[in-house]
Amino acid sequence: MPLLKVLGVTVYYGDFKALGGVSFDVERGEILSIIGPNGSGKTTLLRAIDGILRPRLGAVYLDGREIAGMERREIARIIGYSPQRVDVQSYVTVLDFVLTGRRPYASWDYSESDYRKAVEALRAVNASHLAARRLDQLSGGEFRRVVIARALAGEPDVLLLDEPTNDLDPKHQVEILSAIRRLASGRGVAVVMCLHDLTHAYRYSDKILAMKDGSVYAFGRPEDVMREDLLREVYGVSLKVL
Ligand code: ADP
Repeated sequence: MPLLKVLGVTVYYGDFKALGGVSFDVERGEILSIIGPNGSGKTTLLRAIDGILRPRLGAVYLDGREIAGMERREIARIIGYSPQRVDVQSYVTVLDFVLTGRRPYASWDYSESDYRKAVEALRAVNASHLAARRLDQLSGGEFRRVVIARALAGEPDVLLLDEPTNDLDPKHQVEILSAIRRLASGRGVAVVMCLHDLTHAYRYSDKILAMKDGSVYAFGRPEDVMREDLLREVYGVSLKVL
């Protein structure tokens, strides 16, 4: 049974159909990258998987259980989500922010183990030195890594990352993608990430899902999806990755 199963997921914003019957599976330890132009439904798909948006048709299953019947806290123990945009209170410290990723496990207060997990998550994205810094004192790239650390702090089985390399310089892009690779291979985390950078998507993914106008245009191994003819149809311009 796949860890994550997305079956016929259809999402509307009012009368506008943002996703039309999207289906795919992700196994433990696998990295799936979602590609596709702006507005093709990538973020909507991540939000539907996380249960923030409810599909009008179709369903999302975690380990065979439909998430529609699960409580928010339970979903949050399984899925770690790093959104593209985050509203934060600027006076919060990095460590306190990353600790909020432990909320699904904490009762009254955070335990020593919660602190340890938050510190480990910061280490995983090479951001330990930022722990005491305030959020408004971070660069864009530092903030991106801290948001990913918060998603990691809950030790999720499924990691959803919306443009994890945004704001990062090339060195940090490779570092973060390598860290994601280690989490997938080492801990068996199933990763679903949206990526604009097609070369990264090609190099770091086991499977690629190409979205166009809210539907799956292609799904398969990177070498099968990253073909020039197919990318031209998806993006409407000539692109060469292979
Ligand atoms: P992507 O992540 O691929 O850029 P999105 O999932 O953000 O695409 O958006 C898909 C489509 O849904 C776009 O046309 C966008 O304008 C629309 N959309 C996204 N969020 C909302 C919303 N809250 N209300 C109405 N339309 C939305």
